[in-house]
Order: sequence, then C-alpha cells, then structure tokens
Amino acid sequence: MEKTIFKKIIDKEIPADLIYEDDDVLAFNDISSQAPVHILIIPKLEIPTLNDLEKSHDLLIGKIIRIAKNIAKEKDIEKKGYRLIFNCNQDGGQTVFHLHCHLMGGRKLNWPPG
Ligand code: 5GP
Repeated sequence: MEKTIFKKIIDKEIPADLIYEDDDVLAFNDISSQAPVHILIIPKLEIPTLNDLEKSHDLLIGKIIRIAKNIAKEKDIEKKGYRLIFNCNQDGGQTVFHLHCHLMGGRKLNWPPG
C-alpha cells in the first residue's frame, strides 16, 4: 500500500517544518496554514482514522493532546485560546488518512466551523 504523506514525513522521505518530535509523536506546521498557528500533531503509529482507535491507543491520544497544549503555550496562544480538531472521513473533511490533530489559533476562530 502507498505510504501516506504523513508516513513519508515520519520516515524523513519528505521534509516538514518540525515543531516537536519524540519516539511516539511528531508535530509540524501545516503546509496550507489556515490560521497564524496551524500545527499538525500526529502519532508515529499508523492509525488511519478516529474510527480505528482502540483501547491500546488511549495513552497515545492523551499524549497527543498534552503535547498540543504544550505547543499552544510555547506559541503563546494558550491564554487567548485555540482549537484542537480531528477530522474523520469524508464528511469530517479528512484528506490524509493518518490520524492527526490540528492545533489552530492566533486568531478568532468561527463557530460553528461550517
Ligand atoms: P485533514 O484535511 O486530513 O484533516 O488535514 C490534512 C492536513 O494536512 C491539511 O490541513 C493539509 O494542508 C496538510 N498537509 C497535506 N499535505 C501536507 C504536507 O505534505 N506537508 C504538511 N506539512 N502538511 C500537509
């Protein structure tokens, strides 16, 4: 099966503007930024969508959210606020089938998102 673009970033086959990396998680700037801060936080483990989550992933997902919070603080948007988004499948607007969390902030975000 063809690697996803995010797996290629994990494997360093294509470059990304890295923000954070450890053994489990990678964070990098979105290539098509929709806000002053728009960062993707992804597990290195290949999980295609939210629908594929299992109990064994609970700690990993918690870690992704904690890292997102830490990055929001580093980017100085934690006081004004920000949004974490996991898109799932077609109606959710998912285009890359490697689970990822969007961290968006640095401007007022509309609600509902549309
Ligand atoms: P989704 O629509 O699946 O929730 O989000 C996928 C995100 O990945 C999009 O916001 C898109 O701009 C971003 N993206 C797609 N290809 C690349 C890439 O090659 N590099 C980076 N940094 N982001 C990408």
